[in-house]
Amino acid sequence: MDYLDLNLDLDADQIALKRSVRQFAREVLRPAARELDRLTAEEVLKSELYWDTLRQAKRLGYHTAYIPENHGGLGLPPLELQIFLEELGWGSAGFAVALGVDTMPATVAVLMDDPMLNEAVIAAYVNDKEADFVGCWAITEPDQGSDWVSLIADAEEQPYMQADVTAVPDGGDWVINGTKAAWISNGPSATHALLFVQFNPGGGDEFKGGIAVCPLNLSGVSRGKPLEKLGQRELLQGEIYFDQVRLPGEYMVIDEELFPTMGETVLAYANAGMAAMFTGVARAAFEEALVHTRQRRQGGKLLCEYDNVKGKLFEMFTSIEAARSLSRAALGYNMQTMPPATRYSIAAKVFCTETAFRVTHEAINLFGGAGLSREYYVEKLFRDAKAALIEDGSNDLLGPAAMNAVLREYR
Ligand SMILES: Cc1cc2nc3c(=O)[nH]c(=O)nc-3n(C[C@H](O)[C@H](O)[C@H](O)COP(=O)(O)OP(=O)(O)OC[C@H]3O[C@@H](n4cnc5c(N)ncnc54)[C@H](O)[C@@H]3O)c2cc1C
Repeated sequence: MDYLDLNLDLDADQIALKRSVRQFAREVLRPAARELDRLTAEEVLKSELYWDTLRQAKRLGYHTAYIPENHGGLGLPPLELQIFLEELGWGSAGFAVALGVDTMPATVAVLMDDPMLNEAVIAAYVNDKEADFVGCWAITEPDQGSDWVSLIADAEEQPYMQADVTAVPDGGDWVINGTKAAWISNGPSATHALLFVQFNPGGGDEFKGGIAVCPLNLSGVSRGKPLEKLGQRELLQGEIYFDQVRLPGEYMVIDEELFPTMGETVLAYANAGMAAMFTGVARAAFEEALVHTRQRRQGGKLLCEYDNVKGKLFEMFTSIEAARSLSRAALGYNMQTMPPATRYSIAAKVFCTETAFRVTHEAINLFGGAGLSREYYVEKLFRDAKAALIEDGSNDLLGPAAMNAVLREYR
């Protein structure tokens, strides 16, 4: 099953990329995600299937989509990246997100262009074919979820914020203390974190923060249990604790001056990526609904022959096309513009994840009772889409944060 790509300029390489990622998504990601969905989070962490799936992605170089070619990565341009992420999301939202956060420490290391990080982080990451290097994005804390997102969503607004994870300078090193929440994707398996910290604990209204590329094998780092949750169950999540962790100074890659811009840039990349992945989730549900309504008969006709069913399918189709267009536009602009127009990444994330939620919901309705059964894939897609409304910033919070910037823009 394929969609008509409205981009008439797609060349043979872009079409080949779409086909090969789709094949991987269909043959590797989706079957693995469906099987892992039935396991406990502890079982997923220990399962050969989980690790083998990651290894297969890494052997294809899929973890390096954001890393430029001069560092040995695939260095996909924005349109290719959208195509790639949509197909990954079509196969498995959980693995798409796992690969998305996996790349974050190395991608930010590339942006900072530091010789030490070239060897210790970027080369080690790019050359990893065994899933020995696993990245994560550690920002959310048990008591500061939306607070962190509000802080980075718009560099010009600096809302009040007191973080739990703090970094204090000590003789060229940083001493890190505090807890990152159970929501850290790849938290249980990560070897490196893109770690958001506060420098001035108890600093009143003025937040001073930084971002470290933090190896997680340092003394004083420990983990919580893998989190049990609804949706994206093939995605491992868990707490990371920092107890007097001594981080060599050079790993604190972003200082307090750069923090507002780089914090926002990280969110702009992440939200635009989510938009593409969840366009894929919506498309997966639409395709399930197409197959089902072409096979199921009620009242002497196929379901797809009824106008109300056609109307529902058409709404799904239209909103997926709109989602793809917006996600391509946001990735296209924000991957080539510094500082990014984060409000457009947020708009794309909110629109595409809400499209995924609505389309998966409608797909379940079109399956009738069967849609609620774990036997059918739409049930998993619905749970995966639900999680996305909160992931990478709750949509309820992201919208108003983006609106601050839109209000400033429209004068
Ligand atoms: C599947 C998944 C994957 C995730 N992956 C990661 C990851 O890789 N790394 C990471 O660091 N985090 C990750 N998260 C965490 C995610 O970013 C947070 O869950 C999200 O930012 C919301 O924070 P919270 O859960 O603490 O909710 P809260 O902040 O407690 O928010 C609860 C509700 O209150 C509303 N609210 C909160 N503050 C305000 C306010 N000031 N004004 C108005 N309304 C407000 C919110 O909109 C929301 O509806 C992930 C979450 C999920 C679900």
